[in-house]
Amino acid sequence: MSKILLYLSVLLVVACASNQSNQKDETLSTNNPPNIILVLTDDQGYMDVGFNGSEDILTPNIDAIAEEGIVFTNGYVSHPYCSPSRAGIMTGRYQQRFGHEHNVPFAPEDETLGTPLDEVFISHIMKEAGYATYAIGKWHLGDHPLYLPHKRGFDKWFGFSGGNMNFWGFPQKGGRMHMQRNDALVSPKTLSYLTDDFTNEALSNIKDNGAKPFFMFLSYNAPHSPDHATLEYLDKTAHIEYGKRSVYGAMIAGIDKGVGQIVDLLTDMNIRDNTLIVFLSDNGGRLDAADNGPYRGHKGMLFEGGIRVPFTLSWPAKIPMGKKYNQPVISLDLFATFMAAAGITPSDPDRLDGVNLLPYLDTNKQKLEDRVLYWRVANGEEYAVRKGVYKLIKSAYKNKTMLFDLEQDHKEINDISSQKPEVVTHLLELYERWNGELSPPSWTDPHMANVGKEEANTRAYRKKSLSKKEQALYD
Ligand code: CA
Repeated sequence: MSKILLYLSVLLVVACASNQSNQKDETLSTNNPPNIILVLTDDQGYMDVGFNGSEDILTPNIDAIAEEGIVFTNGYVSHPYCSPSRAGIMTGRYQQRFGHEHNVPFAPEDETLGTPLDEVFISHIMKEAGYATYAIGKWHLGDHPLYLPHKRGFDKWFGFSGGNMNFWGFPQKGGRMHMQRNDALVSPKTLSYLTDDFTNEALSNIKDNGAKPFFMFLSYNAPHSPDHATLEYLDKTAHIEYGKRSVYGAMIAGIDKGVGQIVDLLTDMNIRDNTLIVFLSDNGGRLDAADNGPYRGHKGMLFEGGIRVPFTLSWPAKIPMGKKYNQPVISLDLFATFMAAAGITPSDPDRLDGVNLLPYLDTNKQKLEDRVLYWRVANGEEYAVRKGVYKLIKSAYKNKTMLFDLEQDHKEINDISSQKPEVVTHLLELYERWNGELSPPSWTDPHMANVGKEEANTRAYRKKSLSKKEQALYD
């Protein structure tokens, strides 16, 4: 707890919030600390929201958030797959600083496997500042009871601990992973379809919240596999003539409905304007069903399709509406942004890797052009650095290091490393310096084995398309 207190030098929050019992008066309440809702989806592709241009998967309610706020066209996460990306979001720090570089192996009996307990979560900060704190849905930051959300700064949790879950809430992994409400098991008989159950939990938390500001981490496991939907949501994608994508789209339709219900409730309660809502995906879209739009690759890769995600932020009372922000931002920025929104000044800002985005969101003001963003996967088997228009990427899939100019070549087709050796050298130096600050991974996962298999499949398929004569020439 002492480390948490270090963060908090200014606590304007609680006093004015708890004295403000009448949230019906919007003009008064907008001077209070905002409610904050972080909607995180799972494996949703960059293009699979209307606000980025989707024409088959329709997301009118998510788009409404974007219309009331800012769309980040260069919005990144800090890892191309689930658990490490979430560790970065919760801590505001590159997760490789504390060994969380792979998915946490499911092992509820092992008290060493989870985001290290001395890392401060954003939920700790918000709770300390007087917020009510709610976690809903997928966690994936450790399965041992010590690592669960209600032990890490959240007052209440309803969800499951691991990386994926059937949408009916039936216990998995021999009954060791199940839906739970804090420490209590939740019977599948009380559940309907997890996306709806998570939405309903969010609605009841908001209704019952009272006068305190609240911080809600709403972590839908959709549209991650398994491919489960309902008739209501399948009806929304009856026009998609590819089975997998139509189910994936239906899962997103479930999220979209939930987001709409939540915004409607906030509006009815007259607290929408002073509620900051962020929507993003935890990593790039899944290989088999998602559309990552103009970007190369998918979940698991450090090409843009693996790390650039649908990302929007809305806070009608305070930030401009209907704008696009085109400079690079990263999910790590949310920590500092939420703190600033709540009026909390970090006493140890150097500990954070992200920045408070709020001063940048009026696009006439400062720019983030010169910032450098980093990614490291599997202890450096893969990495990437982005600075300005340039991106250096060492890809294990391709077994080479490449340089791209994302302004000229957003699709990452033309490797210009041989034309720009000085840029390669500069970005490599930056990477090595950053890499020197990191820890080795504390556990491992099958990512590198999957990379090998996936690339072998792609190559085999490409090769099979050739005549026998040309197959001999394919390397
Ligand atoms: Ca994911």
